[in-house]
Amino acid sequence: MRSAEVHLRVPESAGLQQGRRLVEICNACRYCEGYCAVFPAIELRRQFTSGDLSYLANLCHDCRACYYSCQYAPPHEFALNLPKAFSDLRLETYERYAWPRPLAALFRRNGIAASVLALLCTVLFAWMAKTPSRSAAGSENAGAFYAVVSEGVMIAISGAAFLFALLALAMGLRNFWRDTNSPSALDAPSLLAAFKDVFTLRNLGGGGDGCNNHDESFSQTRRYFHHSLFYGFLLCFASTYTAAVYEHIFGWISPYPFLSLPVLLGTVGGAAMLVGIAGLLQIKVTADPGPASKLLLDIDYSFLVLLFVAAATGLLLLAMRSTAAMGGLLAVHLGVIVSLFLIFTSPAPSSRRATISPR
Ligand code: SF4
Ligand code: SF4
Repeated sequence: MRSAEVHLRVPESAGLQQGRRLVEICNACRYCEGYCAVFPAIELRRQFTSGDLSYLANLCHDCRACYYSCQYAPPHEFALNLPKAFSDLRLETYERYAWPRPLAALFRRNGIAASVLALLCTVLFAWMAKTPSRSAAGSENAGAFYAVVSEGVMIAISGAAFLFALLALAMGLRNFWRDTNSPSALDAPSLLAAFKDVFTLRNLGGGGDGCNNHDESFSQTRRYFHHSLFYGFLLCFASTYTAAVYEHIFGWISPYPFLSLPVLLGTVGGAAMLVGIAGLLQIKVTADPGPASKLLLDIDYSFLVLLFVAAATGLLLLAMRSTAAMGGLLAVHLGVIVSLFLIFTSPAPSSRRATISPR
């Protein structure tokens, strides 16, 4: 057991020690076993390696049901606060598994990193943009976008950012897989169950009644807003790839009419994202800070704001593509999209949720 060996040699972080203490209490109590996938997974162990604790922390969806129902929660002397302990631990794992390693420290300053990246990428696109002719900048003629930022520049920068994000995610997953001693092969039923959990956000259901966003009352709103954001994002992704097929297979050059497939998918997806992000922000702003990790909350905010700006500039670009504002909007939109790809190399709060069934 590699993780256990490392555990013996390397002094553990305060987060791991705290996580182990709480998980061992929960394993004796087991009152919350119906709330989420974490508790059945806890029950499979008597002792917990650092890899086990990282795995459990990333399985937690922060629904907070266990916090409000726990007889050992503050002000009890045990001060058991599992959602906060897992949030702190998750942040540690983001840093530990991140690739490339020197960028890991950015996770501690994620909000600043996200803003600086978005700004730099926007300036880069604006700098590379040609000075558009009056007719190109404010027209809906085929190729109007490429009159602002050339096709080669757009594909080279976006493609490089996308490939870097894929590689960084794959390396992060590999680090997580090794540290948690996950099996070398997954069987089809486990994979199917994991995908079903992801696409239905089953674990945000908090055992069926929803999350405890503000107090001990349950609500499904967080789950619904997550669905809106998640499926909106997928629709926007589908819009981009439909446009690529139109252009590179059929030779139809953008911008496309309002009633074309790429524009319809992008409009519905962008609107769904805005609704989801606004709802999630509202829940976070009004939530009980007791079970929250301040640092992770900052990261959540920075992701959500960046996603909001990406969706809003995409819709604005659509609405104002025949005006002189199109050039500036395109540079900002592309800059934010590229910085999102780069920032997504961290295990984003909304994408890391339960991709693996309990062992
Ligand atoms: S969170 Fe509290 S009530 Fe729930 S299993 Fe742990 S110790 Fe028991
Ligand atoms: S906060 Fe919710 S998901 Fe996390 S351990 Fe508690 S009950 Fe499970």
